[in-house]
Amino acid sequence: TVSKILISACLLGHAVRYDGKGKPLVHPAIDRWREEGRLVTICPELAGGMGVPRPPAEIEKGMTGADVLEGRARVMEITGGDVTEAFVAGARHALEFAQAHGCTHALLIDGSPSCGSGFIYDGSFEGLRHAGNGVTAALLEQAGIVVCSDRQVEELVELLAKA
Ligand code: SF4
Repeated sequence: TVSKILISACLLGHAVRYDGKGKPLVHPAIDRWREEGRLVTICPELAGGMGVPRPPAEIEKGMTGADVLEGRARVMEITGGDVTEAFVAGARHALEFAQAHGCTHALLIDGSPSCGSGFIYDGSFEGLRHAGNGVTAALLEQAGIVVCSDRQVEELVELLAKA
């Protein structure tokens, strides 16, 4: 069987980001995977009940998605709203959706408090990055799904060739 790839909806240009925009990633591999029917698209934050647009959110205090899943950290909007529950619900939806479709890999946009896998922001809303997973990326990895960021399309191509 051909491995399927869970992909962040905003990477396909869907206007689902907090700012009401998409962030399309142009790469021949993505066109090929789409033609092969291997892409499974989701926006975890919308799946968790968030709207568009929405205030920017970050995981508090330099913590990570795993900390959120274990109840040690919250996801906070810049306006002070606690959106932890929606982000955790969205991550669970994303995992169920991925498993229902047989996704072994995921291609998620970096930097997001949900989808980030290489880096996320530190909760200060000052543009400060640190290494770590967003909530969805953390849950997918815990379930054994290989998560690549949008900067790792070539790595994903190689990983899939070996899968
Ligand atoms: Fe894109 Fe993920 Fe944010 Fe949705 S949650 S807008 S898919 S980065």
